[in-house]
Amino acid sequence: MKCLFCKIIQKKEPAQIIEEKKEFIIFKDINPSASIHYLIVPKKHIKSIKSAGSEKVAQTLIRAAKKLAKREKIEGYKLIFNVGKKGGQIIEHLHLHFLAGKFYTRF
Ligand code: 5GP
Ligand code: ZN
Repeated sequence: MKCLFCKIIQKKEPAQIIEEKKEFIIFKDINPSASIHYLIVPKKHIKSIKSAGSEKVAQTLIRAAKKLAKREKIEGYKLIFNVGKKGGQIIEHLHLHFLAGKFYTRF
């Protein structure tokens, strides 16, 4: 198993986990682009939004983001899917970026 995010999901690699549910995990981005930068990641290995068979997985991740924001009382935020190498995707395991607070770079 080469995929880094699969390893994090399996607890074979460390991460600062914020929340874990049956279908997804949320952890802090190791190189944050904002003062709050989480990655919302489906447990199932799907390469990207492009190769996702249905939009159901995106719906699950977006719902998780909304709940997280509500719980942490975050009023405004950015949700980003990078799609493919040319779209800035480095890790080939689908993930939704959740950014808020003070923005630094990139997004
Ligand atoms: P992408 O460019 O694929 O959309 O985003 C991948 C994100 O994963 C990047 O923002 C990067 O900082 C983050 N990342 C890369 N390696 C690790 C890691 O080992 N742990 C964590 N928590 N995040 C990582
Ligand atoms: Zn994976």
